[in-house]
Amino acid sequence: PPVIVWFRQDLRLADNPALSHAAQSGRPVVPVYILDDQTPGPWAPGGASRWWLHHSLAALSGALAGPGCPLILRRGRADVALRALVRETGAEAVVWNRCYEPHAIARDSTLKADLKAEGIAVDSFNAALLVEPWTVKTGTGGPYKVFTPFWKAVREGLDPGRPEPTPRHLATLPTPPDSDRLEDWGLLPTKPDWAGGLRDSWTPGEAGAQQRLTDFLARAVARYPEGRDYPAQPLTSRLSPHLHHGEISPRQIWAAAQAQAKTQGSDGVDSFLRELGWREFCHHLLYHFPFLPERPLNPKFEAFTWDDNAGHLAAWQRGLTGYPIIDAGMRELWATGWMHNRVRMVVGSFLVKHLLLPWTAGQAWFWDTLVDADLANNAAGWQWIAGCGADAAPYFRVFNPVLQGEKFDATGEYVRRWVPELAGLPDRVLHQPWTADPITLRAAGVRLGHDYPHPVVEHKAARQRALDTFAAIRDDN
Ligand code: FAD
Repeated sequence: PPVIVWFRQDLRLADNPALSHAAQSGRPVVPVYILDDQTPGPWAPGGASRWWLHHSLAALSGALAGPGCPLILRRGRADVALRALVRETGAEAVVWNRCYEPHAIARDSTLKADLKAEGIAVDSFNAALLVEPWTVKTGTGGPYKVFTPFWKAVREGLDPGRPEPTPRHLATLPTPPDSDRLEDWGLLPTKPDWAGGLRDSWTPGEAGAQQRLTDFLARAVARYPEGRDYPAQPLTSRLSPHLHHGEISPRQIWAAAQAQAKTQGSDGVDSFLRELGWREFCHHLLYHFPFLPERPLNPKFEAFTWDDNAGHLAAWQRGLTGYPIIDAGMRELWATGWMHNRVRMVVGSFLVKHLLLPWTAGQAWFWDTLVDADLANNAAGWQWIAGCGADAAPYFRVFNPVLQGEKFDATGEYVRRWVPELAGLPDRVLHQPWTADPITLRAAGVRLGHDYPHPVVEHKAARQRALDTFAAIRDDN
């Protein structure tokens, strides 16, 4: 009888413990992916993630065709679809790699118990994290809520081990079970086809992920500690969508970075691995505080009165706020499905502080538009920005979008790339076009209010309103 390998957020063949386990059993392997839009509820993959998923599954399917083992595609509630496949194939074993979203944990633990009760062997593995969230505890036995001590505790003695190789041989069934056709799932946009920028920016799949890692280590990691803050520079790894979909494991990244440190020098390596540590921390938070995507970690924020201005939200989403660094970021996101981390922080702060719009509105937009949309990282990132999360930014920190632009995009390369209507402005007014005199504006071909909007809110007044509103939370102390 065959063993079913249930692929989820581990769309790779190398360093895939569930797949290796199945391969080693010597039994026929039935690899399956189930598109389940019901179990996650509101957290079913958004538009950009679906685009990615399509291409990642195509790549995985192609890779499995090498060992002659077709990827079976099914759609519907995953637990139901999986049990149907067990019946059809007469499988006596099922394996998967663990997911950490609350809905996945609930589904998987019930499923595991039910299958075991029916005499089916079930094994699950860690393929997505350097450490399991339940193994890291503070001195008093609770979960960490502050990053630095969390990372210190994790790093001490951390040995993720050597990545497992791609299985050489997979036994297969003479007649594979029925499969949906990927093309019929409608994961790709058609009318309109908004994915052109995504196609130009990314190569989903395991091979694309490995290529990114190799390029990044060879070309950028040494300059990462300083360079990672400058959005015009390609000095971060851009591995986030590959990591989210499990096309590469943190253990593979860890091993490659350590190997690089030994042979080429360790410049930048620790700083880069620390960011992988943030990913671990976010998953730790989501595991211990499963309400993270819905409710503030700091309960004082439950009663916070956010604004409700649909026009402001639309201006932010479309990159038409009148603040060039904000608009550049939001347009980069729309065009490529990704935004530089520095700019994520600045646009996030602008939404929750300048516009006083709820962090959940920003989280929802990111969920739909990011190719790396990830429940843990996204929720933790937004709560951090809003000041209600773990280790959060203090309420009185309001990023000034002009100064952030001038500091991190001093030459204006990023703004000119994404807000081309301002490209002709000189650097000194590029990040605050409303201060330019009429002659400068005319010379640059910019008519404010026509080609580019006036600011939706005035910085000083918006900052004061944010401070006053957020102070209410502090005063309740
Ligand atoms: P690198 O700088 O090369 O870092 C390497 C890897 O470390 C990343 O691929 C990522 O997996 C991890 N990482 C880096 N920074 C963080 C961080 N602050 N938190 C958690 N993990 C991190 N990241 C997502 O993967 N998905 C999200 O949905 C997401 N939403 C965010 C929302 C907000 C408001 C903010 C402020 C940040 C969010 N991040 C999210 C974190 C971060 O912006 C991205 O992980 C990073 O920009 C990805 O680019 P990179 O791969 O080049 O990162």
